[in-house]
Amino acid sequence: MRETSIQLAYLVATFLFVVALRSLGRPDTARRGMQLAAIGMAVAIVATLFNAHILSYEWIVVGCVVGAVAGYPLGMWVPMTAMPQRIALSHAFGALAATLVGVGEYSRGFAVGDIGRGHVVALGLEVLFGGLTVTGSLMAFGKLQEILPGRPMTFRFQHGFNLALMACAVCGLLWLIIDPTNLAVAIAMLSISLVLGVLFVLPIGGADMPVVVSLLNSYAGLAAVATGFAIDNNILIVVGALDGLSGLILSVAMSKAMNRSFSNVLFGAFGSPVASAEGAAAAGGEMTAIAAEDVALRIAYSDRAIIVPGYGLAVAQAQHQVRELADLVDKRGGDVRFAIHPVAGRMPGHMNVLLAEAGVPYDKLVEMEDINERFAETDIVLVVGANDVVNPAARTNPNSPIFGMPILKVADAKSVVVLKRGRGTGFSGVENDLFVDPKTSMLFGDAKQSLLNLVVEVKNV
Ligand code: NDP
Repeated sequence: MRETSIQLAYLVATFLFVVALRSLGRPDTARRGMQLAAIGMAVAIVATLFNAHILSYEWIVVGCVVGAVAGYPLGMWVPMTAMPQRIALSHAFGALAATLVGVGEYSRGFAVGDIGRGHVVALGLEVLFGGLTVTGSLMAFGKLQEILPGRPMTFRFQHGFNLALMACAVCGLLWLIIDPTNLAVAIAMLSISLVLGVLFVLPIGGADMPVVVSLLNSYAGLAAVATGFAIDNNILIVVGALDGLSGLILSVAMSKAMNRSFSNVLFGAFGSPVASAEGAAAAGGEMTAIAAEDVALRIAYSDRAIIVPGYGLAVAQAQHQVRELADLVDKRGGDVRFAIHPVAGRMPGHMNVLLAEAGVPYDKLVEMEDINERFAETDIVLVVGANDVVNPAARTNPNSPIFGMPILKVADAKSVVVLKRGRGTGFSGVENDLFVDPKTSMLFGDAKQSLLNLVVEVKNV
């Protein structure tokens, strides 16, 4: 009876997770999606606490306290711009849990001299994926946090060496299937997986880390599936599979939106000094500076305006100011929309999350495919801290490293104003001809301060 109730609760949790994932696909339902996922997780945890195999709750309570003490500050105080490294750290913790369960299960079986062959396959995969996710995620965290050098760190025959290590790990697994209680091989496998995580991530440029983090998410999911098989827990199998697959789909989608092949992200060296230098040669010409009063006049009297948010909006934390400005123009009878590029910012949905936090109505957020045709009929486009996602070189310059990346067709509008601090390039390190286009004016300064000035000026118009 108890077991049936637990399985029923797992079914409910699985249903909630699937609905939650579906809801996360749209900004207006994403918040509900997160809430459903949290409820699903609570149901799964409570059901698991009734598991008949639990002998004592003390360590579970200790784990919950330690987790809460570490998790609360991570959730509450880490700024939005540091979200990719925060997520990398969470994956490292998740994978560490899976790996420790694998090691614990193996030690238990080893102590009584009873480890089945099927069991050892699950444990081996769990430790392999878990171990490489732990160290890989820590490397990704280090690169994103700039503790480690962001440039690709490579050595000769690296790919061959990594493949050879991977082959050793697979051979170790096969060995354990034949001789499950061979402790030396088990330890070697765990060590190889930890080394593989380091060697897999170090050669990838810091700029590509968000894609790598998403891929590591997928590995953590696979480790969870293996854990589920190892300890015979259905919810881990289902949730791990959802996590593994969604992580993989996200990595591929991100690579696609950046016009990079998936293998190029994993084995290339984008964001390296070479790529940046090539791109830097592109733009020539003078930028035209503009004063906030002039921008305010233009936007206040515009019928149609589009705001293009980018990474700089997140850096400046200017989401509330941009919303205030949009509201002011709306009140004056103008039509303001926000153009959302799929990879604007540094994580999927970054702009949606920021703008939703500031209370921008969802119907004002328009995806790239839907808004691109509107630019030609737009009086003024305000580019707030965006660069790569509006770079015309992606369409016009076959030699540009970002050539082929889908972009927002900002240059089609009647006039463009770019809010940024100076001449800094974006993520790709490529110069942007839009900034020297005759119809573009530059409002230099921190985006938050510039928007505050614009709000004051529009109120005075
Ligand atoms: P970019 O990184 O291309 O450009 C950001 C611009 O913001 C910079 O040129 C910078 O110029 C400006 N900026 C920075 N801080 C401020 C500030 N405080 N105030 C005003 N401006 C500021 O951003 P985009 O959003 O256009 O493009 C995102 C890039 O990230 C794409 O290349 C994408 O492929 C990549 N990427 C995105 C991922 C995602 O999931 N979203 C994942 C991985 C990569 P200045 O220094 O002069 O101020």
